[in-house]
Amino acid sequence: MRRNAAELAKMRRAGKVVAEMHERTRDAVRPGVTTRELDAVARDVLDRRGATSNFLGYHGFPAVICTSPNEMIVHGIPGDYRLEEGDIISIDCGAIVEGYHGDAAYTMAVGEVPAGARRLMEVTERSLWAGIDKLRKGHRLHEVGRAVQDVAEAAGFSVVREYVGHAIGTAMHEQPQVPNYWPGTPGPTLKSGMVFAVEPMVNAGGPQTKLLDDGWSVVTADGSLSAHFEHTIAVTDDGPEVFTLP
Ligand code: MG
Ligand code: MG
Repeated sequence: MRRNAAELAKMRRAGKVVAEMHERTRDAVRPGVTTRELDAVARDVLDRRGATSNFLGYHGFPAVICTSPNEMIVHGIPGDYRLEEGDIISIDCGAIVEGYHGDAAYTMAVGEVPAGARRLMEVTERSLWAGIDKLRKGHRLHEVGRAVQDVAEAAGFSVVREYVGHAIGTAMHEQPQVPNYWPGTPGPTLKSGMVFAVEPMVNAGGPQTKLLDDGWSVVTADGSLSAHFEHTIAVTDDGPEVFTLP
């Protein structure tokens, strides 16, 4: 699906709201804060910007952000969990403006964290940017996943297979999917106006995942740490445009 200039303008605005959710929640992350309090910070941004949530009510999801600490990969439900010094926390945020969606995630340290955790976050963010750099017209979509995988595996980490990125527009999750690995085929040819959410989930240990009994929280099967970074990006004539940067 290719978006026209008016549609891209709305997605740019949705992206700015998501970027503000990132900035505000980052400022609120500290030892002792609960993940429910972080959700309230994000809700306040949506309210003040007149945006709505694409997470709240999604298949019954009860919050406007996902909060996934430590070995949790994605889709953690905000609640009573209190962040502790030494945790890493992944926060995924989304917003809808005039019917158009933005979606982006980051992982950050809570206070001081071990060097290995810091390196996992750095590599995962770098793998996202390596993937974003492949979002150029005429390229094939799955070059994104190959680039992500190359960066992650060169560092000795693994990429999650069961959860992937996606096209985005008038729905949060549109086709095609954007795997974070080379799936064996080059995928569709990229054209200007296509918009994708690229979102590497990188594990310090093996790539296997496990779904917890709450039906949402996805953790690493081996209990190793996991990091998640995501942006919403348009393919333009001038290269990739990242909508979810501040
Ligand atoms: Mg997301
Ligand atoms: Mg996404």
